[in-house]
Amino acid sequence: MTTLLTTFLNPAVASASMLPCHDMDAADLFFSERPADLEQAKSLCAGCPLIEECRQGALDRAEPWGVWGGAIFDSGRIIAVKRGRGRPRKNPVQDAA
Ligand code: SF4
Repeated sequence: MTTLLTTFLNPAVASASMLPCHDMDAADLFFSERPADLEQAKSLCAGCPLIEECRQGALDRAEPWGVWGGAIFDSGRIIAVKRGRGRPRKNPVQDAA
């Protein structure tokens, strides 16, 4: 993540060491499989001075996963929530069309 952030990081706004996602205690939250961790990462982003640039950069790069700019990414798109791991459905989802 550090390499990607330096591509758009504005040193006049913040240094990388000031960003919540660069806190070694919190860094794993941003790429966790646990929905609760991702929600916590999103809340950390809320106080970040680069939130808008970060989210737009992630959209431009089509980030495959993780929390960027206060949003959860999956396959290059922002998703509202990430489902936790669990048992697969017993019955296939019926197509509404
Ligand atoms: S918005 Fe979140 S992921 Fe992006 S730089 Fe700030 S803390 Fe890190």
